[in-house]
Amino acid sequence: MSDMLSYARGPEAPILEKTIAQALEDSAARFPDREALVARHQEARLTYRELAARVEETARGLAGLGLKPGDRAGVWATSCVEWVLLQLACSRAGVVLVNVNPAYRSHELAFVLRKSGMRALFLNEKDARANYRQILEESRAGGGEALEHVVHLGTEAWDGMLANGTNITWEPPAPEDVTNIQYTSGTTGSPKGVLLTHRNLVNNAWVMANALHLSGEDRICVPVPLYHCFGCVIGTLVAVVSGVTMILPAGQFDPLATLEAVHQERATVLYGVPTMFIAELEHPEFARFDLASLRTGIMAGAPCPIEVMKRVVDQMHCREMTIAYGQTETSPGITMSHVDDSLELRVSTVGCPLANTEVKIVSLSTGETVPVRQQGELCTRGYHVMKGYDQEPEATRRAIDEEGWLHTGDLATMQPNGYFRITGRAKEMIIRGGENIYPREVEEFLYTNPKIADVYVVGLPDIKLGETVLAWVRLKAGETATEEEIREFCRGKIAHFKIPQYIRFVDSFPMTVTGKVQKFRIRQEEIRARGLEQAAKIETA
Ligand code: AMP
Repeated sequence: MSDMLSYARGPEAPILEKTIAQALEDSAARFPDREALVARHQEARLTYRELAARVEETARGLAGLGLKPGDRAGVWATSCVEWVLLQLACSRAGVVLVNVNPAYRSHELAFVLRKSGMRALFLNEKDARANYRQILEESRAGGGEALEHVVHLGTEAWDGMLANGTNITWEPPAPEDVTNIQYTSGTTGSPKGVLLTHRNLVNNAWVMANALHLSGEDRICVPVPLYHCFGCVIGTLVAVVSGVTMILPAGQFDPLATLEAVHQERATVLYGVPTMFIAELEHPEFARFDLASLRTGIMAGAPCPIEVMKRVVDQMHCREMTIAYGQTETSPGITMSHVDDSLELRVSTVGCPLANTEVKIVSLSTGETVPVRQQGELCTRGYHVMKGYDQEPEATRRAIDEEGWLHTGDLATMQPNGYFRITGRAKEMIIRGGENIYPREVEEFLYTNPKIADVYVVGLPDIKLGETVLAWVRLKAGETATEEEIREFCRGKIAHFKIPQYIRFVDSFPMTVTGKVQKFRIRQEEIRARGLEQAAKIETA
């Protein structure tokens, strides 16, 4: 046993050769009267027949704007019916959907406008959090020459687009065509666009739907945001390929609205990043809700605490609860537990490879596959690996090697039974409540503050969020600043979750002899100084 290597592959299954739009058509033909989408905050309910008709209308609207196959259209909005319509309509018309995080502010939006070359952008005018129209105006100064159409959802512009729809006269897209660009931050400091094909997404959704044992009785509650792969693939597409109901409890995550949605809609499946499940379990009104309709669910997106998984099984009745592991670059699912695995395996591992998926763990120094139980970098190969990063051939070559293995940057171990645990990160990423943050990106932004000479950003452990952001800042000679002043400088320009919760002003940084900053020492010192040892010890799958 001792020389068994850390390599496992999922069962072989047929690969579906259809586009997202075809998957919708199939479900609409099979289950026309079944509920497809419920958006509780919009009081909207659509059957599969109605959804397919609204998607067709929206696709004609995109054609009427003059969008052609391969053109890019962005959606910068919280979860809503229109988000789903645009997602599916883009696929129908061959337009590439560009997901934009609704928490993005002017600095980040300008980057995505410039980088994606989108011709159309769909957004809300404003909500309680922000005035999106105004942020867009600020951003356009910094990029987005290609942007011709700005359509505010729920306004005359949206209705006008639908009214002026035209026939789609071109060939429908093929399964191998790119249909979606999802941004994920790169270690180089700015976000990279992950190019995903119909084949990537339809098949990943299909294997995850099968892993959940979905049937016509199932109703999936999706409190995770649609801009992220958890929402738009494991949410929308899992529902669409299997013809089951997707329930959106609110525009943005709200624990109370999620509990109410499960209770009133009799949801059978509940998704969430660990932070969301914690917020639901700890909600003061938790006991008021009847959650007995729940059967299963998926926790993913960040290290999943074993104790939280156990509480979800016991207190939320998710007796078949699972953990999935993956990343945007892999459509996203790589591994997942089986609904009928032992409780111990389901709470303490991230499962085993999904169908048609290979996984291995390699040594960071030699690149060789390591023996079981030994830690290394998790790599994966299969239909689910992205086409590449948009216009970044160098970064794509670094991520996907010549044999087609994608290097995830996550550290993991494999047990002899083929189950994996995520043990850390080779990449310098912080995951705060499911949102990924690259320290380099925040550092580069903070350098634009004229008072700052030098800055290092690290993640600190946090009981509720998993991690939070800390910045060590050295000011230029003679300058003074307060923590609040630095945070104020960030507001409106970068997403709220990237703004350092903790800031310490220092004169120097811990260095190696070769002059490299030792971030792990910054982290250790802060854990001690702030008494965060308890949070640092939480055990995860
Ligand atoms: P994203 O590309 O935003 O989906 O983020 C993917 C990253 O989230 C992965 O590379 C992991 O670092 C982390 N992640 C996702 N799922 C899990 C999980 N179940 N356990 C631990 N980390 C996870």
